[in-house]
Amino acid sequence: MTAWRMLKNRLPTCDNLRKMKILLNDEESKCFECGMQEESINHLFLICPKTDEVWNEVQKWLGVATVRPNHFEKHLGTFTSFGKEKKIRNLLLAIWVGCIWILWKKRNERRFSGKEWNCKNFVLEIKIRLWSWNRIFEIVDDGMDLEVWCSNDLICKLL
Ligand SMILES: [Zn+2]
Repeated sequence: MTAWRMLKNRLPTCDNLRKMKILLNDEESKCFECGMQEESINHLFLICPKTDEVWNEVQKWLGVATVRPNHFEKHLGTFTSFGKEKKIRNLLLAIWVGCIWILWKKRNERRFSGKEWNCKNFVLEIKIRLWSWNRIFEIVDDGMDLEVWCSNDLICKLL
């Protein structure tokens, strides 16, 4: 599972490839989105300006505001701490894992196919994909329709 591999810092990001002497060139190991820093787990999923914009939009959707730690496990801990109830925490965990998974997918599409993406479409994709996941996990009542699910301040609507 991607999240597990990531927590072990084992995704083939550029910094990890460099450690294995696979990418040697400074330019080749830079983030494909911003080109400013070496691509690492923390940069790709938490720090990159484009990723930061994604998390801002996701927090707007959920209706939660916080400073986001730059450390992977702390980021997850803070993100799920918004849920006082277990079912909300499970939902936040699913959303967090979903975001990481789609960020990795977008990174690979950009890296290998040159396909660009934007933050607005990313957040829409997250909402729609997770709508089906969350139905499976029965976290949200069956009565909630997609329009309400996609609207901002989601957590308030679930309480
Ligand atoms: Zn970047």
